[in-house]
Amino acid sequence: MSRIESVLEHIEPRLPAGAIVTDETERKTYECDGLAVHRTVPALVVRVTSTAEVALAVRACHEFDVPFVARGSGTGLSGGAQPHAEGVLIVMATMRDILDIDLIAQRAVVQPGVINLDLSNEANPDGYYFAPDPSSQSVCSIGGNVAENSGGAHCLKYGFTTNHVTGCTLVTAQGEIVEIGGQAPEYPGYDLLGVLCGSEGTLGIVTEVTVRLTRLPEAVETLLIGFDSTDAAGEAVSDIISAGIMPAAIEMMDALAIEAAEKAVACNYPEGAGAVLVVELDGPAIDVELERETVIARARDHHAGEIRVAVDDVERGLIWKGRKSAFAAVGRISPDYIVQDGVIPRSRLGPVLASISTIAEECGVRVANVFHAGDGNLHPLVLFDGALEGQAELAETASGRILDLCLSEGGSITGEHGVGSDKAKFMPRMFTNEDLDTMQILRCAFDPSHLSNPGKVFPTPRLCGEPPRRTSGEHPLQTAGKAELF
Ligand SMILES: Cc1cc2nc3c(=O)[nH]c(=O)nc-3n(C[C@H](O)[C@H](O)[C@H](O)COP(=O)(O)OP(=O)(O)OC[C@H]3O[C@@H](n4cnc5c(N)ncnc54)[C@H](O)[C@@H]3O)c2cc1C
Repeated sequence: MSRIESVLEHIEPRLPAGAIVTDETERKTYECDGLAVHRTVPALVVRVTSTAEVALAVRACHEFDVPFVARGSGTGLSGGAQPHAEGVLIVMATMRDILDIDLIAQRAVVQPGVINLDLSNEANPDGYYFAPDPSSQSVCSIGGNVAENSGGAHCLKYGFTTNHVTGCTLVTAQGEIVEIGGQAPEYPGYDLLGVLCGSEGTLGIVTEVTVRLTRLPEAVETLLIGFDSTDAAGEAVSDIISAGIMPAAIEMMDALAIEAAEKAVACNYPEGAGAVLVVELDGPAIDVELERETVIARARDHHAGEIRVAVDDVERGLIWKGRKSAFAAVGRISPDYIVQDGVIPRSRLGPVLASISTIAEECGVRVANVFHAGDGNLHPLVLFDGALEGQAELAETASGRILDLCLSEGGSITGEHGVGSDKAKFMPRMFTNEDLDTMQILRCAFDPSHLSNPGKVFPTPRLCGEPPRRTSGEHPLQTAGKAELF
């Protein structure tokens, strides 16, 4: 009997009918996440509804030495939920209950498959919401948000998922159920919750999440500002923030991204603009009014064209629709595209966008830019036609060069989409071998057998106890002149 058959034999009688998927066609529907170029059909799929069921499946994997991968909604863009060919895919989308909302404590306890926006919709009538807002928030799960430490447009002011999670129930890679954190804002000892947030499913499976609920602001203003160029828009971003304002969001789209969004959702952005900024201000009404005037003045300093302030929720909704649909919208102007995710200091937006356009020209591809400008989190969309020979390779080359560019600016190879299987090969460009070994030691403390989402995040799967390789060469941050070695 194969190892996977042993797992099946062990769990099948203990799970409800329909929980286990063995049919190949049905398993194939889980072969990839939002990064569809990486596909693997899982050997077995298990749809779970409780912590106990997750623990049962993981214990069986541990006993029979079978790898397992957690999957939320499968919207990840780095191949994090890509299944293992000889492993079990544990589908969390069937754990969708909001278990508790405590408005006095400003906490909610949810199952990990709960859709991000569903929690806000539930809390909104009482004046609260869940602040992390990935553009995929109407479909992605809170468990996926925790695993990726997801961000979103409003994370500039409100922080990433990690800032909004106070506790988790974790099924360890051995199948034990442990509680990490809880309702309190802080716990003594090592910050294991911080370690879990962003660990991409490599440290076990989260089966319950306690999150903060944030009070809805008294007032919200949304501005749409047109500029001639991304350069001018980039400078305006730096100036607005140096004026002492912390907008809830500042998002930028360039001309190509605007063209795509117009075609997809007719968002009526300023005609002929080389770039637009979507700036959202929120807080006490009096502050928001003053900040709006400062933003307008700073934008005018950089020769802004049309400045539109949304008059109501309908207009605000249309402005955001253009921005939030932008990834999918590029499908209207290109048969294929890669969604890249890198970070740079926001003061370098103008020059970096100019370099990206040079890279695009040299590689013979087009790049549309739509991104969280306030925190320098770029999302260059590399457009290509996979049907044309060599185009996919050129797009890959352009994508890699963009990440190198981010690193040379002292930035990062990912801001929020994670490393997954896609960017594992880039990790040594950002981290030294010692850095990676230290991360492996941490991973081994949780999962010495490397069964939890193996093959992700790390460039080469090294086992616990394997001696580290020799470390050599400068750290990219040193090369970029952004850090010194003491
Ligand atoms: C159109 C579009 C827009 C997007 N915009 C944003 C954005 O603005 N900001 C942003 O940060 N991301 C964005 N994303 C990426 C993606 O939506 C997020 O990473 C999201 O958090 C993934 O959630 P998911 O439920 O789909 O997770 P999945 O894709 O199913 O899984 C993601 C990772 O989490 C792990 N995982 C899932 N559930 C659990 C669990 N319960 N326990 C442990 N590990 C688990 C998986 O193994 C995998 O490694 C976008 C994606 C798309 C398609």
